Amino acid sequence: MKNKILTFGFDDAEIHDRKLCEMFRKYGMKSTFFILSGQLGFKCDFHRYGEDTVVERVSADEIKDTYSGMEVASHTESHKCDPDDFEGTVGRSMRYLSELCGYEVRGLAYPGGHYTHELVHNLSQNGVLYSRTATVTHSFELPENLLIWNPTCKYDDEDINALTDEFLAYEGEEPILFYIYGHSYELTQKEDGKSFESFEKLLQKLSFRDDILYATNKEVAYLLEKRNNNDNS
Ligand SMILES: [Zn+2]
Repeated sequence: MKNKILTFGFDDAEIHDRKLCEMFRKYGMKSTFFILSGQLGFKCDFHRYGEDTVVERVSADEIKDTYSGMEVASHTESHKCDPDDFEGTVGRSMRYLSELCGYEVRGLAYPGGHYTHELVHNLSQNGVLYSRTATVTHSFELPENLLIWNPTCKYDDEDINALTDEFLAYEGEEPILFYIYGHSYELTQKEDGKSFESFEKLLQKLSFRDDILYATNKEVAYLLEKRNNNDNS
C-alpha cells in the first residue's frame, strides 16, 4: 500500500461539477461527488457572491458521462437527513443513484455536515459504507469510524498550501490520508485561493506522484476495511 492517499469529496451536484471532473481527469485524480438525487435537473435563480446567478444541478441522464472515472455517492434526496426515515432520505436515494451509475452507491455526505448518533447507528444497520461530515481535522489521520468521516480541510482553507507541502514531504511508513472537500460552485469565485484557477494549481502540485494513491472515497473505505480486517486476524 502506498503511504499517502489523496481523496476529494464535492457536494451538491451543480453543473460546475462538469468542469471539475474534467480537471480531475486531466491530473489523474479521483474524487467522489455527493448528489442530491431528488433534485437532478433542478434549476432556480439565485444570488450569491455578489451577483445574480442560476443554481442548476446536473441531470439524471448525464450522470454516467459527467462523473466518468469518479465516484457518485449520495447527499440524500433533497439535503435533508431524517434519522427516522432512512428509506425516504437515504435508502431510496442510494438505490436510484446506483441505477443511474450502474454500480452500487454506498457512500453518503451528511447535508450540512450534521449527524446524530441515532442516525449513525441507522446507517450502520442499513449497510451504508461511509458517511462524511464537514468537521475539518487539519490532520492526515485515517478515520476511526467511516460513518463519522471527518475531512482534512476544505479546498479554500487558509492552511491548504501548508498542508499540501506537509503531505508531499511525508516519508513515514504509516499511511496518511489527505481529504479535501468543497462544492464546485464555490470554484466560480474569482478570488485567489478560491477559484478554479487556484484549484488547478493545487491539483498540479499534487499530481502524478509515485508515492500517492489517488482514490475515490469508496476505494479508500474499502482499503481501510481491508486493513482493519488484516489487523484483527
Ligand atoms: Zn450540501
